[in-house]
Amino acid sequence: MTLTSVATSSARLLDQFGLSAIAQAGDWPVRSPIDGSLLARLRTHTVDEADAAIARAQQAFAVWRNVPAPRRGELVRLFGEVLREEKAALGELVSLEAGKIRSEGLGEVQEMIDICDFAVGLSRQLHGLTIASERPGHRMMEQWHPLGVVGVISAFNFPVAVWAWNAALALVCGDPVVWKPSEKTPLTALACQALFARALQRFGADAPAGLSELLIGGASLGERLVDDPRVALVSATGSTRMGRAVGPRVAQRFGRVLLELGGNNAVIVAPTADLDLAVRGIAFAAVGTCGQRCTSTRRLIVHESVREALVARLKQAYAGLPVGDPLAEGTLVGPLVDGAAFEAMQAALRAAAAEGGTVTGGERLLADAHPDAFYVRPALVEMPAQTATVRHETFAPILYVLTYRDFDAAIALQNDVPQGLSSAIFTNDLREAEAFLAASGSDCGIANVNIGTSGAEIGGAFGGEKETGGGRESGSDAWKNYMRRATNTVNHSRSLPLAQGVRFDI
Ligand code: NAD
Repeated sequence: MTLTSVATSSARLLDQFGLSAIAQAGDWPVRSPIDGSLLARLRTHTVDEADAAIARAQQAFAVWRNVPAPRRGELVRLFGEVLREEKAALGELVSLEAGKIRSEGLGEVQEMIDICDFAVGLSRQLHGLTIASERPGHRMMEQWHPLGVVGVISAFNFPVAVWAWNAALALVCGDPVVWKPSEKTPLTALACQALFARALQRFGADAPAGLSELLIGGASLGERLVDDPRVALVSATGSTRMGRAVGPRVAQRFGRVLLELGGNNAVIVAPTADLDLAVRGIAFAAVGTCGQRCTSTRRLIVHESVREALVARLKQAYAGLPVGDPLAEGTLVGPLVDGAAFEAMQAALRAAAAEGGTVTGGERLLADAHPDAFYVRPALVEMPAQTATVRHETFAPILYVLTYRDFDAAIALQNDVPQGLSSAIFTNDLREAEAFLAASGSDCGIANVNIGTSGAEIGGAFGGEKETGGGRESGSDAWKNYMRRATNTVNHSRSLPLAQGVRFDI
């Protein structure tokens, strides 16, 4: 895609979302990773405006928590309907702003639609337990109540889906949302707000103002959400460095935190693995989104008996990967997000080589055509050991290859990194598969058999352990993060027995 067509496409889409004026309102530059061209100049929010947004959300909470949950679900259903209508446009804007290939941009919007559907069903299932009481004529139960304002801080690489995972659940749970998107992807956030406003219009008058607020700007605005006691839950997605700053600050004020941080995901390939599946699964997970998914495969732990065959096939696949314009038909690998990402990738490759690694690929491509964009050939690095560089998450398409002989050593290597997000094994040996999934197997929040590490569905709880932050969002019972639990005991007898046989007669 040429510079003019990026500009033309973005102008068309911004107009479609009603954002043309906002896109020229300030001096905060938004650039496309496709060619580095300027997409917009936004006005950033001030600290006072952030405070006012949180105040509006807090007022909205007082109203929204009393709207019946299935009615709240109706708003999310309408939002899902708007997203279906605008899937193509929003997906394309994701590609322009984040550099994802078209099918991944569309896939991200589909993920938003999926979580809306999930949340609508959930709006009739926010149920607690009934618990047997030890006292006669008593009943115990749990109720789940709305929690309060949810602050969402999101990363550039899933510019819209992560907000939707949080917002769809928060809204059915009775919580307003204040969103601080990545400074690299504010346009898609503005588009989401415009689409949500459309859903609100269709919904009617019982939705209060302030249900969905947006803060455009840098990390300092995120810090307002972190430090403000009116924000009951801070759901923060990004680097471990960010989480290390955010977690203790929210804990300091006894707020609730949901952290979705960096990963360093491995695939084990065992002697019985179906290598056709393994090659496809590894390639998609290692080079998809140009290696910029939290779940991207970064380490390959392959049995010595299949190493040569697998690495040869991966090298062949890597050499033929179509790298380029993410919106062009057939492209599988788009650009890195910016020059800093490129520098970080080159620094990691130099460090790995100094540690004894053999690097294939990793060079810059299309620099003449796009001097302000950063396209690379994904890199495969054969390592003698799991060195410091391998144990660090570099957010770029680098796949480190390690070899194992003994299955237990493979598990030990897989777990011997600070992060604990996603993991996978390719094997046809039932014992190995089950051992990998067992308590003494993978220590990650996600562990897969015969599929790669990325591309999770919204039905499961998503998140990871250790430096990944421990949070779980999206499916399963992740909704409980967005609600507070009340334990109730009701006495319907005519006496007042005390628990544990305690006597207190007056
Ligand atoms: P980043 O940490 O640079 O920024 C993420 C967000 O945090 C941005 O909105 C930023 O403004 C904000 N921020 C940064 N410092 C902050 C602070 N001190 N207080 C409040 N807010 C702050 O991350 P990025 O480069 O946008 O994204 C890439 C990283 O995100 C990778 O490490 C990736 O693994 C991780 N990620 C994790 C998940 C997951 O679900 N586990 C999903 C996507 C991305």
